[in-house]
Amino acid sequence: MILEGEHESAMRRALRLAKLAARRGEVPVGAVVVFGSRLLAVGCNQRETKHDPVAHAEIQAIRRAARKLGSWRLDGCTLYVTLEPCAMCAGACVNARIARIVYGCADPKAGYVSSLGNLASDARLNHRCEVVGGVLAAESGAALRDFFRRRRRSGGSENASDPQSGREPGA
Ligand code: ZN
Repeated sequence: MILEGEHESAMRRALRLAKLAARRGEVPVGAVVVFGSRLLAVGCNQRETKHDPVAHAEIQAIRRAARKLGSWRLDGCTLYVTLEPCAMCAGACVNARIARIVYGCADPKAGYVSSLGNLASDARLNHRCEVVGGVLAAESGAALRDFFRRRRRSGGSENASDPQSGREPGA
């Protein structure tokens, strides 16, 4: 059982990674993988930097955690991510046997652990993740809104409202 305060401190870490991503011109999404009280790996969105459509924060963190454990199975691990995971990342969590997904703000247009569906808790799959949403949601949402506002103001790209997977959540 994880206490609310523990969720928050891991999510704060993810939020710092999201802000780091923003400074690099990436849509601010951050993720960490935790096992018990041990921080295994961190990741932030690097889609632009790496020219990689799958370089979402969750994928970066999951890959690093698996490398660290020397196993693709992340049994008992919790993934914290500032934005609700998309279908790809929810699928990665299932494949990695992540025990629990804790996210910040919802993504009504791409989120796939609650908003558009719930791939992580589909009883037909051979693994299910517990899902907890809304941890530091306001802060996570604010980081995304600030990023897009600044990008629009600086005359950014035509894709100016694209979070990790398409557009600004809730836009
Ligand atoms: Zn994703």
